[in-house]
Amino acid sequence: MNKVYSVAIDGPAGAGKSTMARRAAAELNFVYVDTGAIYRTVAYAVAEHSIRPDETEKIDALLPKLDLKLAWKDGVQHMYLDGRDVSTKIRLPEVSAMASKVSALPPVRAFLLDTQRNVAKTNSVIMDGRDIGTVVLPDADVKIYLSASAQVRAKRRFLELQEQGRRDTYEEVLQDMIERDYRDMHREIAPLKQAEDAVLLDTSELSLEESIEALLIIIRERLAL
Ligand code: C5P
Repeated sequence: MNKVYSVAIDGPAGAGKSTMARRAAAELNFVYVDTGAIYRTVAYAVAEHSIRPDETEKIDALLPKLDLKLAWKDGVQHMYLDGRDVSTKIRLPEVSAMASKVSALPPVRAFLLDTQRNVAKTNSVIMDGRDIGTVVLPDADVKIYLSASAQVRAKRRFLELQEQGRRDTYEEVLQDMIERDYRDMHREIAPLKQAEDAVLLDTSELSLEESIEALLIIIRERLAL
């Protein structure tokens, strides 16, 4: 079997992880794995069952019943819940907030660990999330911590939401993002932090194209591709 490579990209919300990782994966012919989408799908299921994020026993009981699948179409990851493609629905800001609450629960993280690791066993991957370099793929060939100032990240997310026809104000987006980052960085299990051996890439001052170029330089250099 050919050698498979793994690239772990972690960082706060709105740092550009998914856009950049998707583009870099297409360039390198790797599979892009968006782990946030997996947590979002669990959060979506929890909400659909009218369970609150603090009802941990109900969430525990729901997990084994979930039929959760990942599939790739033209390089784009789709999430299926009980056979339904929920990829668009899980992008709503309500689901973002729910995901950052539900993802702090240890049984949820344990439940999703193998799903994430299994993809990386048989494919060269670029996987992005919050704990990929620290917990999911601690032996990843390349680890990158992607960041940008909260204001820059909120502005990018705000423009994205506007394009989708949402009316959220910049202040609301910034506030949501600050709260979500705080929860992701301060939870007890697998908090968002830079792995010791991760390369820091701050994209505050870079355009998207410059950021992707910088990302590809780091990956190619480390993998000697
Ligand atoms: O990356 P994205 O914004 O889609 O992630 C949604 C939420 O899922 C994050 O705020 C975080 O709480 C959670 N998440 C996580 N670990 C990951 C990926 C996402 O806890 N590896």
